[in-house]
Amino acid sequence: MAVTAIVGANWGDEGKGKITDYLAGESDIVVRFQGGNNAGHTVINDYGKFALHLLPSGVFYKNVINVLGPGVALNIPAFIKEKNELVERGVPEPGLKISERIQVVLPFHILFDELEEERLADKKFGSTKSGIAPFYSDKFLKLGVQVSDLFDKDRLTERLQASLAAKNVLLEHLYEKPSISIDSIIATLMRDKELIQPYISDTTKLLHDALLENKCILVEGQLGALRDPDHGIYPYPTSSSTLAGYAAVGAGIPPYCIKRIVAVVKSYSSCVGAGPFVTEIEGENGDILRKKGGDAGEYGATTGRPRRMGWFDGVATSYGCRIQGATEIALTNLDVLGYLEEINVCIAYEIDGKKTEDFPIPGKLEKAKPVYKKLTGWECEISHIRNFKDLPNEAKAYVQFVEDYTGIPVKWISVGPKREEMIKINLGA
Ligand code: GDP
Repeated sequence: MAVTAIVGANWGDEGKGKITDYLAGESDIVVRFQGGNNAGHTVINDYGKFALHLLPSGVFYKNVINVLGPGVALNIPAFIKEKNELVERGVPEPGLKISERIQVVLPFHILFDELEEERLADKKFGSTKSGIAPFYSDKFLKLGVQVSDLFDKDRLTERLQASLAAKNVLLEHLYEKPSISIDSIIATLMRDKELIQPYISDTTKLLHDALLENKCILVEGQLGALRDPDHGIYPYPTSSSTLAGYAAVGAGIPPYCIKRIVAVVKSYSSCVGAGPFVTEIEGENGDILRKKGGDAGEYGATTGRPRRMGWFDGVATSYGCRIQGATEIALTNLDVLGYLEEINVCIAYEIDGKKTEDFPIPGKLEKAKPVYKKLTGWECEISHIRNFKDLPNEAKAYVQFVEDYTGIPVKWISVGPKREEMIKINLGA
């Protein structure tokens, strides 16, 4: 009865998709438990390069069942489009199941996301405008629509009437836009319901039965620990919890089943959107790292936006691992740093003249200045290396630093974006 969680220890874009794709081969079920199609997981394997937004990263394995749990934000057209694109590119039809309790991203969620970013102007949060914040707001305002409601027209009409009552007032008086007619929304949803029907099931039962049969389950997080609404860099989090602890809720499994928590840690830092980013590298040096990072530069998998770049932040990463409850680290993108003679790593923050290794509350984070230590670079390509002992000593020392600073064993080192570019290690053994 063991579940493995694969979650981000940083701001997202750590390479969770690659790690999940790698580990999914040994799994029976892969589950997404939060978020929507607002972020992307890049996966590069024998079928080609893919940016997955809503589909779990187990979709490339024929025998894996991929589940969208009730905690996910389901954009039906986006889900169907992503699935069809995969199949058109030669991937076998994936096994997909969607919770009957999942809530649906409605067209007006996307509209309100756009209007609100427009209204906030230079105070905007850098939303991907996928409707995710208005979606989760409605969910907790008890104005959401569960996918099962699409099959009960009276209930759906009631739910939408409740939701649109306040929205149309806002549209008219705050945003000065035309109001939305319930009929047009219902017509769209009646089309969507036909498309989604084959995938809907009681995934909570499916997962509980699988646990009883000792099946191997992976739960896959979106974004990273520092984007968690409670523990992250509020008010710049995402709108659902990114933590392994939430996987139990968002997937629908007992919390005590999650035995292994793989925190995906990036060898440097990257961050999309607004908010404090203590180790940011601005100017030309940031541009160089951006160009060298990831599989084709560090640009958002969903939006194509350039990511902000920074040095490895030990303070933020240790905190990220702690709130994830990490039992092991998968360290990604180590190959990217191979061009540097010296590499900065942040070992403390200085806030109001005082040094600390504790990650502060958001108000103080804005004032934090990084305290760096310099590590020697290895100045060579390492993507071909598959054994830890074959890494240059400087790269080994970098990995050892991450393990020592965070206190969490580094079990995996990713040395390139492709599935096979991976080193399995056990430094502590
Ligand atoms: P995710 O959302 O956490 O899955 O991360 P993204 O897919 O948004 O971003 C990670 C980026 O790094 C993608 O471009 C991946 O292809 C790439 N990537 C993952 N692991 C490695 C690695 O070890 N080395 C390099 N060079 N790129 C990697």
